Amino acid sequence: MPRVLLVAATTGYQTRAFADAARHLRLDLILATDRCHVLEDPWGDRAIPVRFDDPLASRDVLLAAGPFDAVVAVGDRPTLVAARAAEALGIPYNSSAAVEACHDKYLARQRFEAAGLPVPKFFRVPVKASPMDTARRAPFPCVLKPLGLSASRGVIRANNAAEFEEAFVRIRALLGSADVAMMREEQNRYIQVESFIDGREFALEGLVTAGELQVVAIFDKPEPLDGPFFEETIYVTPSRESPATRQALAGAAGRAVRALGLTHGPIHAEVRLHGGEAWVLEVAARPIGGLCARTLQFDGGVSLEELILRHALGEDVSRVRLSDSASGVMMIPIPKGGVYQRAAGLEQAIAIADVEDVMITAKEGQKILPLPEGASYLGFIFARAASPERVEHALREAHACLRFDIATVLPVVRR
Ligand code: ADP
Repeated sequence: MPRVLLVAATTGYQTRAFADAARHLRLDLILATDRCHVLEDPWGDRAIPVRFDDPLASRDVLLAAGPFDAVVAVGDRPTLVAARAAEALGIPYNSSAAVEACHDKYLARQRFEAAGLPVPKFFRVPVKASPMDTARRAPFPCVLKPLGLSASRGVIRANNAAEFEEAFVRIRALLGSADVAMMREEQNRYIQVESFIDGREFALEGLVTAGELQVVAIFDKPEPLDGPFFEETIYVTPSRESPATRQALAGAAGRAVRALGLTHGPIHAEVRLHGGEAWVLEVAARPIGGLCARTLQFDGGVSLEELILRHALGEDVSRVRLSDSASGVMMIPIPKGGVYQRAAGLEQAIAIADVEDVMITAKEGQKILPLPEGASYLGFIFARAASPERVEHALREAHACLRFDIATVLPVVRR
């Protein structure tokens, strides 16, 4: 039985989807995570404890647990550990230099610029820099962002100096918060400033083999992403853009993959159409996050996780195609911060035509935080239909049925 190493930040839905795919493919999937001590452990004592803040020590732990035939990483930080381990184990994966560039928005921009890709004006300053002085250098409208966070966390648009200073102070506080400080990452000591690139945005899912990108899905993001925060909501595939535009998006993503030096494994890219050109905002060296992969179903009912595992083991999957139906997901936004209580209207939402599933992932009593400080959703709505239009319509209709009860203060504890 081939042994596949899965490096994952959580032991949640996505790792379970990989476990299901591995069972189906008759693979021995071994989980490595830094969360063994906190969360439930679906693999019992088989999960290997690693530390994402120490990829080199983690590499040695994984080397001792080998041999493995392939490695897959889920989440941004696990890619750094996966790359170190793959180098030591001699199995095909991206180099650590390539995944480091993906995980640092400043390095990535430099690589794109050096490769001649269109990039916004950009610079970074230490988080201790003066917001007022930095604002003088900013190209308005601009976007301020941390270098090493994901899911749009801490990404804020500013149209003028006053908004800039406010955003800067807010990101500084976020980078100083306990959970970010715990990551112990050098890039969290900076804030990046970029000119704002307007235009429609797309997400691309792909597999890289020997440095060549195969795009397996292009998602339209029909909700405008103009800021000040950039919350992901609706993703619909296949894209409604023309074949020429889709080709431009895929071509730009392929050039970005080469610029970053990615060679093997899944990628998730964000690309904008701006001035008739495709601008790659970001490439992550990992698959789409959370439950969103459920939207992708390939011919013969193959899941994205199964495709990734087969690809990791060296199988040629270049002929695999998405199934004919259109599909989509809504990542249900957090309307306000507070303590999540309950959701109403679930039955009505599920009953909407073309809706496949509605999953509320927030738990009663859970503290929830909207963007830009937070980085989660209340849940997910899935739809599948004959056309992307119908999918989008179903997602919106279902969302309109839902009501969320979020308490603004912690409930008083009675003795
Ligand atoms: P993350 O890794 O946290 O998702 P990104 O750099 O991809 O960070 O930014 C998140 C989102 O913010 C993007 O998907 C896009 O909508 C918006 N964004 C980021 N940078 C820019 C920019 N320079 N111009 C316009 N929008 C941007």
